[in-house]
Amino acid sequence: MSQTEQLLCVSIHDVAPATWPDCLRLVQAIRAVADIPLTWLVVPHYHFRPERSPQMEACLDVARARGDELCLHGYSHLDTEANGGGLRGRFLRNVYTRREGEFAALEEAEARRRLELGMAWFAERGWTPEGFVPPAWLLGEGSWRALRATSFKYVTTFSHFHCLDSDPKRGKAVLSPSMVYAARNRSGRILSPRVADATAHMLARRPLVRFSLHPPDARYPELVRHIQQVLERLLAQREAVTKITCAHRLGAASEPPAGLTSPTSRHASGHTQNHSPDSYSVHSAGYRPSC
Ligand SMILES: [Zn+2]
Repeated sequence: MSQTEQLLCVSIHDVAPATWPDCLRLVQAIRAVADIPLTWLVVPHYHFRPERSPQMEACLDVARARGDELCLHGYSHLDTEANGGGLRGRFLRNVYTRREGEFAALEEAEARRRLELGMAWFAERGWTPEGFVPPAWLLGEGSWRALRATSFKYVTTFSHFHCLDSDPKRGKAVLSPSMVYAARNRSGRILSPRVADATAHMLARRPLVRFSLHPPDARYPELVRHIQQVLERLLAQREAVTKITCAHRLGAASEPPAGLTSPTSRHASGHTQNHSPDSYSVHSAGYRPSC
């Protein structure tokens, strides 16, 4: 990737039968601005609910055919592990993300099992996910170890885009805090668009901006209008790509783009990326959504 190339990744989180109507509203709002490639973050067994949706799966097939990407976003999207760790960890899991961080506290073997379940669900539909986004962007040490053994090309946390490589020395992590809305409460709906604007401004000269949309965003016209305004501004400066295309472009860069890369923490034993300080310096807890 050249030093001047600027990319935009727009993703739809929590894609599942239960959220499908809102996902469609989001996509319609995006398409009203521009017909850009999207990354759909699909949850195979969302909240362990029983619904199946052949219509959703058919639509996702069409999306793939037109150049969109389907990414694995956990298995159930629920943190089912017992409470443990320090106060900070319990706050993150119980309050900050409302027990949605499925991969926050898993042991390596259980993380591997759930990744395999997710990939098998994708394979049954003829899909092969090339990237993984942990629910609530929370990824514990056991889950990082399990991910090292997979063939995923990238993993994203809240603050970083991690390009994975079979050679640990060649992996890289690009700082790119997600632009995201907190739709679940009134103050979040008022404040989070301002934070998103500030994040976009902060990232104006950086190689990658990530715009992460969640199904509840679609229920608030003021957020939908803001989504469309932000997209128009960003698309005037940036090329919209799927996350896997982004991973290829960033991974192919021979030099760190604009000083934004660092050795990927995936390979730094014992480090849990979602707990890194930069996660909070740009995005306070009150504005962060449940996933
Ligand atoms: Zn999610």
